[in-house]
Amino acid sequence: MISKDARSILEYFKALLNDLRVSVIPPQNISNDDSFLEIDQTIKTIRNSATALGNGNLSEDINGRGYVLGSLKNLQASLRNLTWITKTIASGDFSQRVHFLGDFSEAFNSMTEKLESSIHELEEARSHFEMVFQTIPDATVITKVADGTLIAYNRAFMEATKFTDADLTVGSFNIRDLYIDESQRETFIKTLEANGFVENLEICFYGKNNERHIGLVSSKRIIIDGAPHVLSVIRDITQLKAIEAKLQQSEERHRLLADNAADVIWTMDLTGRFTYISPSVEKLRGYTVEEVMAQSQEEVLCPGSLVQMHEGLARAINSVQNGLPFQVYRGELEQPCKDGTTVWTEATVSGIYSEDGRFVGMLGVTRDISERKLMEEEIRRLSITDKLTQSFNRLKLDETLEHHNKWAQNGSAPFAIIILDIDHFKLVNDTYGHQVGDRVLIELVGLLNETVRHGDVVGRWGGEEFLIILPDTSLMDAARLAERLRQAVANHSFATAGAVTISLGVSAYKNDTAPESIVSRADRALYLAKEKGRNRVEVC
Ligand code: GH3
Ligand code: MG
Ligand code: MG
Repeated sequence: MISKDARSILEYFKALLNDLRVSVIPPQNISNDDSFLEIDQTIKTIRNSATALGNGNLSEDINGRGYVLGSLKNLQASLRNLTWITKTIASGDFSQRVHFLGDFSEAFNSMTEKLESSIHELEEARSHFEMVFQTIPDATVITKVADGTLIAYNRAFMEATKFTDADLTVGSFNIRDLYIDESQRETFIKTLEANGFVENLEICFYGKNNERHIGLVSSKRIIIDGAPHVLSVIRDITQLKAIEAKLQQSEERHRLLADNAADVIWTMDLTGRFTYISPSVEKLRGYTVEEVMAQSQEEVLCPGSLVQMHEGLARAINSVQNGLPFQVYRGELEQPCKDGTTVWTEATVSGIYSEDGRFVGMLGVTRDISERKLMEEEIRRLSITDKLTQSFNRLKLDETLEHHNKWAQNGSAPFAIIILDIDHFKLVNDTYGHQVGDRVLIELVGLLNETVRHGDVVGRWGGEEFLIILPDTSLMDAARLAERLRQAVANHSFATAGAVTISLGVSAYKNDTAPESIVSRADRALYLAKEKGRNRVEVC
């Protein structure tokens, strides 16, 4: 059983510990006792200090001695240290660690590490963004929509404009000042407001030294710190534009050349339609450019040439289809003219390729070669004509014999020949002179040509010997013609020389493998005719 005094002491401490704001007065008989006073003071100090620390007041002056007060003082110091460390961390110093608060220390340290790593990640993300921004190959800027202030720019922007970091001091540099044409900025802003983005808008702007640039601008509205900004990528197309202008110039120059060239220059698409024809076509064919444009290929080329051109172009196009370059086509073509005549031209056709290497059409140059053709024909005529008699020469006779022999060999029409030689021609020369002899040769050719059919070939075989090739003719028909020739000559009176006769040998094709055979048979017949007294026909 506790005494009444002891009970009242317990009541008092209980009230003190529970912070009961009740007026419990310590029992009178021990209120002056030193031990009681010491306990009373210590409990009050513990209570006040705990309340103060609980309220965050770390500067509470904790007086007194004893284990509990000592612990409280330690706690106060630790908390003070913690506050300081937290402040240091808040300012970015993550090297802080706490070692003295048990579980709490561990939780605190791991929180510090997490904070540290997430801040590190943020920094990484930021430097990553910075790197991407800087490595965009095209000039890139971020500006404030409200006033055009420059917020960020990359290296490519500096390279394009020649502005330095000092020129571009963020905040004081205004993108608006770069516009050459204010109305372009208005268009830009309007488009941006309407769509939220701008795509490939051509804008002219100044560089640092007021040099003019042309940029292809693509922009997007972005929100930074709640305010509208615009991220713009500017592709500098100044050089491209200059090249384009030059190209156009050179195209115009080429056009001028083509328009004024004597040759006809034309282009054709893959469907065979003309896409351009130079005006010189009118001089060539009498048709206007418009008329030719509307012509079909059959109206542009004579039938033989059309076939030849088609074959040539088919070869050229075939090589393209096999992945090879277009084989330049060159050909001589006959083309109809408006006045009903034809003109010979030489066409050179090459392929037109698009920028990406696709075959898209043809470019042709057509040249009038009528004069050349005439000259070539004259050269050919001279090369097969005997100078004195103007009949065919040995070259033409050999060619013709070869040709007919081949045809006959293939089972086509047989042919016959006549060889004739002037009788006693030496006498004519000896009697009247060489010039009279020449006249006889010329007159004789006239007689021969008058008597033979169209298509028979009369030529000088050599000296005063002549060969006549008779296509599609039998031996008997040839013999009959030979006889007519003999008579025509025999009945003719030659200038100065008077009467002249000829002997003739006739032969026809007979399974000969070479033209020499038919000739040697005719030769033998001629020899026979001479043997038998001249001025006669012999058939082999
Ligand atoms: P034959 O009846 O046997 O044929 O007697 P021929 O006198 O005609 O004899 P031959 O065939 O041997 O003589 C041919 C002569 O033709 C020799 C040559 O002077 C002459 N002759 C050859 N070419 C020409 C020519 O271009 N002009 C002239 N005037 N005479 C030529
Ligand atoms: Mg002779
Ligand atoms: Mg003779």
